Amino acid sequence: MSAWRTISLWMDQLDEPLQARAALEQDLDIDVAIIGAGYTGLWTAYYLKRQAPELNIAIVEAQTAGFGASGRNGGWLMGNLLGEERLLADSSPQQRRASWTCCTAFPMR
Ligand SMILES: Cc1cc2nc3c(=O)[nH]c(=O)nc-3n(C[C@H](O)[C@H](O)[C@H](O)COP(=O)(O)OP(=O)(O)OC[C@H]3O[C@@H](n4cnc5c(N)ncnc54)[C@H](O)[C@@H]3O)c2cc1C
Repeated sequence: MSAWRTISLWMDQLDEPLQARAALEQDLDIDVAIIGAGYTGLWTAYYLKRQAPELNIAIVEAQTAGFGASGRNGGWLMGNLLGEERLLADSSPQQRRASWTCCTAFPMR
């Protein structure tokens, strides 16, 4: 649907045609149903499948992948949290350090 291209620069730059997939019209026999194909849903499916390839996973999206905030954001990637001083105020030094190194706990292979 060409209207999806107007959502953002990112969507407009896609080479692939943006076409609606067929609507889900029948029950599915699956292990995990994920609602929404934004970062949260797509990464959840990706890591679940890597950890347990035998799982049958379906992602159900009302519009198209990236229709929500994931396809409209500013593209900033930061290793910290906004307002982290307040969020981490009660944390121990060890917990504070862990909040900065959490990304290394999920190495990409
Ligand atoms: C203007 C803006 C700028 C931003 N800039 C940045 C940035 O620079 N850097 C950064 O790290 N973060 C940024 N963010 C935040 C980041 O984009 C969001 O935190 C992230 O995209 C959220 O991803 P999500 O998958 O949880 O939600 P979404 O991307 O919103 O995905 C939810 C999906 O679920 C679908 N859905 C909803 N209800 C249903 C339903 N009932 N059935 C089926 N599907 C459904 C929606 O269509 C959507 O595709 C920004 C956000 C906005 C709004």
